Amino acid sequence: MTEIEKKINDLRETLRYHSDRYYNDDAPEIEDYEYDMMMRELKSLEEEYPEYDVVDSPTKKVGGKADNTFESVTHTVRMESLQDAFSSDEIKDFDKRVSDVVSDKHYVVEPKIDGLSVSLEYRDGVFVRGSTRGDGDVGEDVSGNLRVIHNIPLKLKQSVPFIEVRGEVYMPKRSFEKVVDRQLLNDEKPFKNPRNAAAGSLRQKDSSVTATRGLDIFIFNIQQIEGKVLSSHKESLDYLKELGFNTVPFYTRVDNIDDALAEIERIGEERGNLEFDIDGAVIKVDEFSNREQLGSTAKYPKWAVAFKYPPEEKQTKLKDIEIAVGRTGVLTPTAILESVHLAGTTVSRATLHNQDFINEKGIDIGDIVTVRKAGDIIPEVLCVNAHNSDSVYTFPTHCPSCGEPVIREKEEAAIRCINPECPAQLLRNLIHFCSRDAMDIEGLGPAIIETFVEEGLIKKTFDIYNLDYERITELEGFKETSANNIRNSVEKSKSNDLSKLIFALGIRHIGAKAGKLLSDHFRNIDAIMSASIEDILEIEGYGQIMAESVVNYFATDSAKELINKLKASGVNMLSTNEIKDERFAGMTFVLTGTLPTLKRNEASKIIESFGGKTSSSVSKKTTYVLAGKEAGSKLDKAAKLGIEIISEETFMGMIK
Ligand code: NAD
Repeated sequence: MTEIEKKINDLRETLRYHSDRYYNDDAPEIEDYEYDMMMRELKSLEEEYPEYDVVDSPTKKVGGKADNTFESVTHTVRMESLQDAFSSDEIKDFDKRVSDVVSDKHYVVEPKIDGLSVSLEYRDGVFVRGSTRGDGDVGEDVSGNLRVIHNIPLKLKQSVPFIEVRGEVYMPKRSFEKVVDRQLLNDEKPFKNPRNAAAGSLRQKDSSVTATRGLDIFIFNIQQIEGKVLSSHKESLDYLKELGFNTVPFYTRVDNIDDALAEIERIGEERGNLEFDIDGAVIKVDEFSNREQLGSTAKYPKWAVAFKYPPEEKQTKLKDIEIAVGRTGVLTPTAILESVHLAGTTVSRATLHNQDFINEKGIDIGDIVTVRKAGDIIPEVLCVNAHNSDSVYTFPTHCPSCGEPVIREKEEAAIRCINPECPAQLLRNLIHFCSRDAMDIEGLGPAIIETFVEEGLIKKTFDIYNLDYERITELEGFKETSANNIRNSVEKSKSNDLSKLIFALGIRHIGAKAGKLLSDHFRNIDAIMSASIEDILEIEGYGQIMAESVVNYFATDSAKELINKLKASGVNMLSTNEIKDERFAGMTFVLTGTLPTLKRNEASKIIESFGGKTSSSVSKKTTYVLAGKEAGSKLDKAAKLGIEIISEETFMGMIK
């Protein structure tokens, strides 16, 4: 294999990998710009070395595929992708290619919405089916999930025999923030950007989940229509509006490519102020007759081009580093910058990810850095241009929110605060504390907890056991009965088994099962709190990380205070779980004759509850023969084999 062939194969494989992460997992690992640049490199190599060209190259395929979660839909009109351009020269080249084929033409310029493409079909003005783009030929039927998107009309304002439209489902920035907030609160992996969030939300099995995600749609094309003749794109967008569709915003018809470029610049300037993400602007030939003459390649139409705003980079001074404590206790650093204008917004903050990132780039306060804003909302520091000092910024050793020492666990990039009472984590910890598998305080759901925290009724976890019920009844929406319900469920939780409390504490790596193992083994909270890592490692199922996590947790003053206060409020600190007694493990009993007080099945049950077995015949494997009156031949056999024969009285002594 030649060097070039290997390079081409490697690029194809890498692109396929990232396409899979992006389209099928909704979790990209690289920036769109990086992906686009790799695609370009592959394309130019394929052009230069046509001998290595293959039909299924990523350069020829529309990304995405339909899996079997939903029914597949074969598109009668192919849902194509778009050719891209990254500079005005490339746009002018596009214009030249168009002008070579058609002379009298106009362009329409529209923002390129960063979401996912869907087709919507209407028969006699009624929504009948909606599907994803998939690979362009076959998509997935997601009608149920599309129905819950507020801006998708289920009935059109005018009836048309048949119309199929194409649009972009997207997640407004506001919804995105809410969804990510909720994910963090529930300890779920948050979506990386609104596009992936929209894609993940549209492919939910349960449309009630989709409904909570606040998705929206912009329609930008008529794929096919019966009963109406239209001759241009602009005309069809106007008509779509009349039908009641939310069309792509500020579309503009222009006379020539220079005006199109000016429009692209204008949209680019607006970018930061929009309520939705755009990753470019699309220029489309307006007249359908011209489009027909221009035709399409296997992947995209030759009459349109997407201008992708290249990631903008600027140098600025890093004035300070701010450390925020997230709800999961992770400390995240943010660079405070001297403001710069970037990709249509004023940027004064940028993410620094974690300590490893800071070390790798050698970042310190006072440095001159390059900041980049790509398609994503959050800008990042790309590199240091001029160092202020020889040192590199290091994280504080104590939590900026509560002052307790922070820890970094082995093989983890994150530095976190594990203080259970840290104010930055309080809400999340409380919700977990009251949840069903934890203390199971039914009356205290997430919304009520949030209200109580806002009202200052709960400042620390143990305040749950000292709630001011009189004040609660005065709160809006809280009547006496609901306050009483809360009181009852709080009281009931005091007698929970210790295992529930251990889980409720939210110790990292200690789930419900691990909590139970800990509680069953040590039996009371004091023994757990004074246990060493070695002591804990004696429990089967516990490894080093879990044992360290328990010891670290109980070493904090806040954990000690929390337990003391909970004890004082009467919360149970003992394991109420019966220890399993296996005293008859490995033994086999044979019962014979009539026992003075026990029935045979009662005796069997007792034997089994202590881990023993019963058998109907005497053999070498028999341990004891439990014999009553009128015992028969079994006794003789037992005597022959030398097996011990016991009475009910002896048996009762054995089970005491
Ligand atoms: P594309 O996103 O570049 O362009 C085509 C799409 O634009 C259409 O499907 C359409 O849905 C959408 N669109 C939005 N507004 C539009 C409008 N007004 N008019 C027409 N179309 C509009 O192409 P693609 O094939 O969908 O996706 C490829 C892109 O996805 C890449 O360029 C890359 O940026 C991104 N990607 C990223 C990764 C990654 O790992 N980061 C991986 C794969 C793909």
